[in-house]
Amino acid sequence: AKSSHGSSIRFFDPTLAEIAKHRQRLENDLRRAIRAGQFALFLQPIVDLTQNALVGAEALLRWQHPEHGLVPPDEFIPLAEETGLINDIGLWVLEEAGKQLAVWQQAGLPLYLSVNVSGRQIPDGLPPSLLVDQAARLGFSPASLALEITEGVLLSDFGSAQSWLDAVRSSGFPVYLDDFGTGYSSLSYLKRFAVDRLKVDKSFVRDIGTNLGDRALVAAVTAMARSFHLDVVAEGVEDADHVRLLRHMGCRYAQGYYFSRPVPMESFHEFSARIPEL
Ligand code: C2E
Ligand code: CA
Ligand code: CA
Ligand code: CA
Repeated sequence: AKSSHGSSIRFFDPTLAEIAKHRQRLENDLRRAIRAGQFALFLQPIVDLTQNALVGAEALLRWQHPEHGLVPPDEFIPLAEETGLINDIGLWVLEEAGKQLAVWQQAGLPLYLSVNVSGRQIPDGLPPSLLVDQAARLGFSPASLALEITEGVLLSDFGSAQSWLDAVRSSGFPVYLDDFGTGYSSLSYLKRFAVDRLKVDKSFVRDIGTNLGDRALVAAVTAMARSFHLDVVAEGVEDADHVRLLRHMGCRYAQGYYFSRPVPMESFHEFSARIPEL
């Protein structure tokens, strides 16, 4: 038993060392990325199905790596969270979103933005007072900046998450519960934590055209949300059939490739004009 144990360690060692080295390199690169101007915010439209109108967008982070090209967030956000770099990155995201909101509000455009907030940023990485100061400094209304959190946020330190949530909402910033339905205790959280909107995860929306179970689930979430006086945003809306079914269920907001993929912030205006007829 001893010798086979030894040989398996010899077998795996180089691989582990390589993974560790790759990780270290990525971490160093990530540390430099903000200063080097390698991050960009992409915006994906959110439409109101009852008004047939563009109402806002979700800000999604992109990393243009000098050698690896565009690195998707799923590949660097977890590392940013583990290393704590997510706090600085989150502040950068907030600053960029805030500047864009100020421009829109100067121009009289009633669009809002939502940004993703990682559990790691709550409460100290993103103090509510900092949000309030930022809105005043950059000149945008708190009501126009929504914060998307996931259930995981509320799982960690219950009390401080609750105070953060209360402070943020009473300062006028809406809070959305993201990836709704993918956690294991969605309903009990809704009872405890007051939020403004639910975002139904795209994994439930994808097959509502063909899968009656998924369709019933999204319909049930929409009906339940209504009784909590919460609006619902359906994610991952990819075709006209999705739109038709969601509208029939009374789901108010939708976001997905059918309307537009996430686009660079600078070209959001061109893209938003091309949203298909609803
Ligand atoms: P998320 O918050 O659930 O964002 C929605 C994801 O679904 C985005 O992926 C978006 O591009 C994708 N998506 C939108 N419409 C469709 C559709 O119709 N079909 C399909 N298949 N996908 C669609 P993305 O941009 O790769 O972001 C992945 C995740 O990375 C986000 O999931 C979010 O959890 C995280 N993330 C992105 N930006 C930030 C950020 O600034 N801060 C933090 N903490 N996390 C971020
Ligand atoms: Ca989100
Ligand atoms: Ca989501
Ligand atoms: Ca997600």
